Amino acid sequence: MLSGGIGGARFLLGLRELGHEVTVIGNTGDDLTILGLRICPDLDTVMYTLGGGISAERGWGREAESFRVREELTGYAESITSAADLVPSWFGLGDLDLATHLLRAEWLRRGVPLSEVTERLCERWRPGVRLLPATDSPVETHVDLVDGRRVHFQEWWVRLQAEVAATGFEVVGASSSAPAPGVVEALNDADLIVLPPSNPVVSVGVILAVPGIATAVRNAAAPVIGLSPIVGGAPVRGMADACLSAIGVPTSAAAVAHHYGSRSAGGLIDGWLVDEADAEAVAAVTGGGIRCLAVPLMMTDLAATAAMASAAIGLADEVRR
Ligand code: GDP
Ligand code: CA
Repeated sequence: MLSGGIGGARFLLGLRELGHEVTVIGNTGDDLTILGLRICPDLDTVMYTLGGGISAERGWGREAESFRVREELTGYAESITSAADLVPSWFGLGDLDLATHLLRAEWLRRGVPLSEVTERLCERWRPGVRLLPATDSPVETHVDLVDGRRVHFQEWWVRLQAEVAATGFEVVGASSSAPAPGVVEALNDADLIVLPPSNPVVSVGVILAVPGIATAVRNAAAPVIGLSPIVGGAPVRGMADACLSAIGVPTSAAAVAHHYGSRSAGGLIDGWLVDEADAEAVAAVTGGGIRCLAVPLMMTDLAATAAMASAAIGLADEVRR
């Protein structure tokens, strides 16, 4: 499975219920460096969610988190100009979360690749899936804004709440990156490749921007099944519509399917699940050479999410036939 943060992690909770062996290829385009600490928001969201440490209320970061270190840093930033640049006040750097970032930074400093760092962190969190970063090379999604500014994706998403329109994205570092060890092998050996209801542009799209990954998906022996992150013309949570608009894709379940494209025509997916609210999209998606079914796609609880995962596996069986 190719995964972003919250949407991918929640879907994984349901998929894990079914007891399959799962490899997760996680988005690293959200990663940023603060005070020398490399922070990997999507990998950590998957790790904490599946490891039982996620904040249920926020959906990211740790449960029972405190922000004393950040408050102290803000105190410095308010009185020292040269500190202000170093401490983005909008980033939710929690005290418990900081322990993860400190360890990761130290291992990276000692030359341990991100994939190995992630595996080590998962020895504690035991997510029940194999979690791989898409790439060990640092990549970062940067956003071009209508007002001419270029900012890191996190600044656009968290500080600006995607309210200033984006005109495009660049995955800085992607062209010289390579898939992390195990990524292409996992895609080659998979029985099923899943695109969960993650953000198609800044989560799945960034993973696919790592040279070699999209080709591996296109050429895989396994069926590729996606689940729509758009329900009834809107992202269920978050601002994915702002990302789709920036690349000229309408915010609809059918448009996202067409954006990925049918593998039979050089695209990426064989099957696509839309929510029952989008049943009218089935004909258009099918017409584009993609098998399509309308099923409930709201991850309201574990049972509903596991049913979505079952539906994806069922659609894969149909594709195989
Ligand atoms: P992020 O990295 O935290 O933004 O998480 P992802 O990229 O993995 O997933 C975010 C996407 O999940 C959002 O754009 C939503 O469209 C989608 N999403 C969230 N909750 C649901 C849900 O219950 N059902 C569906 N179909 N999509 C959802
Ligand atoms: Ca993300």
